[in-house]
Amino acid sequence: QQEKLKKPDWLRIKLTTDGNYAEIKEMMRTKTLHTVCEEARCPNIYECWANRTATFMILGDICTRACRFCAVKTGMPTELDLEEPERVAEAAEQMGLQHCVVTSVARDDLKDGGASIFAATIRAIRKRLPFCRVEVLIPDFLGNEEALQTVMDANPDILNHNIETVERLSNRVRARAKYKRSIELLARAKAMKPKIPTKSSIMLGVGEEYDEILQAMDDLRAVDVNILTLGQYLQPTPNHLPIVRYVHPDEFAKLKEEGLKRGFRHVESGPLVRSSYHAHEQTDSAHAA
Ligand code: SF4
Ligand code: SF4
Repeated sequence: QQEKLKKPDWLRIKLTTDGNYAEIKEMMRTKTLHTVCEEARCPNIYECWANRTATFMILGDICTRACRFCAVKTGMPTELDLEEPERVAEAAEQMGLQHCVVTSVARDDLKDGGASIFAATIRAIRKRLPFCRVEVLIPDFLGNEEALQTVMDANPDILNHNIETVERLSNRVRARAKYKRSIELLARAKAMKPKIPTKSSIMLGVGEEYDEILQAMDDLRAVDVNILTLGQYLQPTPNHLPIVRYVHPDEFAKLKEEGLKRGFRHVESGPLVRSSYHAHEQTDSAHAA
């Protein structure tokens, strides 16, 4: 039985809501859309939505995988919803988004893993909101190169794929995903469209060693990944992967320096950082570089 770690002060945040929040929540219901912001009970939701950034989860809310850190439901996914891209675009327009992140559950039941719906969503948002940056956070499509090409051909502003953890812990933390396959996906994306910035994320506190984090950074830089986010893993329920430690903000700051030294154009690193946190700033610096 693991002794429960005490939550440190830097993770206690005060939530404030503004008037918009309830309205947006209601709109998501009526359009039967899912956001990671809500599903993952993300602590940054008020700040992000006020900053016109949101993360939509497409292809349903049931995943074919069951990663040990993730709160998304697992099971037989819902039927493919071909109208979804248009509804996401409408919602993005109503929210006046400036930065829209589109991600999905892993759809290993579909031949292209849902890549064509990602591409259609990028295009639908572009049509309604030409100035909105569209970032896609994609699953590994089980290494299907054609599926990746379909997404790249729709020209997202950022191609994001998370390695989630260091190589040694990859099999324990992620279901069916492979560290090397993820690195390969990021390499391929860059080869297909060298001008599109690539991005990845590592969550800390699941048992990784400091040197292993640096190695993961080197592996990402070796395939020219441009943006890195580092955040604290928080256990969604007691049945999920336990937290091994809370990483101190000073260590996050040190890791940011290490990342910048290695040539990432932008590193977002801190206890509450999530893949899409301050995403609008990440793109600005990635494109300016
Ligand atoms: Fe949503 Fe990402 Fe912001 Fe969390 S960090 S509220 S998931 S956009
Ligand atoms: Fe969660 Fe993604 Fe793993 Fe599915 S593949 S369980 S959505 S992290």
